[in-house]
Amino acid sequence: MKALVVANWKMNPISWKEAKKLFEETKRMSGLLKVSVIVAAPPIFLRDIGGLRRGKIGLAAQNVHFEQSGSFTGEVSALQAKDAKANYALVGHAERRAMGETDDDVRKKVAALLALEMTPIICIGEHVRDDEGSHFTFVREQLLTALRDVPQQKIAKVIIAYEPVWAIGAAEPMRPHDMHEMSIYIRKALVEKYGEVGHKLMILYGGAVDGTNVGTMLEHGGVKGFLVGRASVDAKRLAELLRVMKDA
Ligand code: PEP
Repeated sequence: MKALVVANWKMNPISWKEAKKLFEETKRMSGLLKVSVIVAAPPIFLRDIGGLRRGKIGLAAQNVHFEQSGSFTGEVSALQAKDAKANYALVGHAERRAMGETDDDVRKKVAALLALEMTPIICIGEHVRDDEGSHFTFVREQLLTALRDVPQQKIAKVIIAYEPVWAIGAAEPMRPHDMHEMSIYIRKALVEKYGEVGHKLMILYGGAVDGTNVGTMLEHGGVKGFLVGRASVDAKRLAELLRVMKDA
């Protein structure tokens, strides 16, 4: 599996001029350092970035609606995102779930994306941890609900992003050992449901990743890909991150 960075720009940058500059720089570094990158851009920039894309860099919507069109003010459908040249979409990001997105919404979005041959990047992760390990059952429930309508022949298209909510926007990522444990747990759930093909799915880690900590996460975290917020909207920090990933 190749190393992968999903750059979640969230509601950044503040203008098209800056977005274009950041995208061009991201594309250049990704090509130079041979690390795969998918840019998850705000919907207002999707089509213009789609026009600049070329080459291997991927383009993701940060959210989609599961209906193709209709009376859903402020929403963007998976079909519209695809028309703007996005080939991926984040679903169930913690910041969307905090605004009311449910496990069942995530399930419908995953099905809508797969029907359009787009790749869902399914975000899962617990809010808190306890000594009883309730975070494992919480994550399993989120995962299995999101995958409920995904048949065997489509599962290879899906990417899972494990992001403990408490690590998103935090000063430090989770401990690599704990990530490794969770990656085994998620993998086991995938293999139980889908058999051998479950080994092929990419599992990403997200939460406070940057160039200073990605090396240990790659070495001990059991993951080769990352969903990155803050460090992806600063070209210098992104370059540092990609450089470490290239050498790992
Ligand atoms: C995220 O938004 O998914 C995220 C991981 O953010 P950050 O890297 O800033 O913690």
